Parts: sequence; structure tokens; C-alpha cells
Amino acid sequence: MSGRTEINIEFLKNNSMSINEKIEAEALELINEKDLIFTKPILIEGKAYLTEDTLIINLDIKFYVSLPCSFCNELFEKEIIIKNFYITEKLSNIDNSYDFKQEVRNACFLEIPSYVECKDKCSKRQSLNNFLNQKNQNFPFANLKEK
Ligand SMILES: [Zn+2]
Repeated sequence: MSGRTEINIEFLKNNSMSINEKIEAEALELINEKDLIFTKPILIEGKAYLTEDTLIINLDIKFYVSLPCSFCNELFEKEIIIKNFYITEKLSNIDNSYDFKQEVRNACFLEIPSYVECKDKCSKRQSLNNFLNQKNQNFPFANLKEK
């Protein structure tokens, strides 16, 4: 949709607001790096409403990153979903509108795993496991434990 991340407080005083945005990674200042590429727009769905003195924003966020497998180092795309993410801000801290861009950006960064495996089961991992198992079998005192 429009890619807006600003919420008008005056509007919210009489309405609740549903959020349904598709935002380019650059617009969220999510910068692509060699080992981390935001491959698609970030999808944000949810709602914003006011309590007596607080703005509450409740979002589901979905995005895709391309990053290298921890085992074979191949780049692959991973879908990341953040469910039920809450942002709250005291109205006394807000002038006319509140921009949730920064909060969403931080949430995305926190969800990017530091350890990933391509296709959820990397073929390189299998050969690494085999290697480790072989090593165990050759453990010189392994036979002593059995009896
Ligand atoms: Zn892999």
C-alpha cells in the first residue's frame, strides 16, 4: 500500500486505525549488506488505538532476508515473521503524529537469526555429523564405558 508509518493522533481520538502496509526495506533504513539482503518489501499488518494516556500499536511483521547458511555459506532466503509486536508510547511524549518506523526497524533487526541453515537441513551439516560420529566411534575409552 502507501508505505506510511505515521499515525495521526488527532484522527485516533475518534477512530481506531487498521494498519496494512508494504514498505520497502530502504524506507525503513534497513540497509543491505554483503551477508544480509532484504529481498522483498516488509509487510506490516495490525492496528493502532488510544487508551486514556497511551498510544498502542499492535503489529504482525513479515519480511524476507537473504543470508548465508552457517554450514555451507550458501546464500538463501529466509522468511521471518514477528507476531503480535506491541509498541506503546505515552501521549505526553507525542506531538501530533507518531512514526513507528524506528520501532519496526529495530524489531526486524532483533529477529534476524545469527545461526541459520539452508533449507532447514543443510547437506553439508549431514557430512559434518557423519564426521563427528566417526570421531566418537574412535574414542579410545568408549569400550570401557559399555561394561
Ligand atoms: Zn547450507
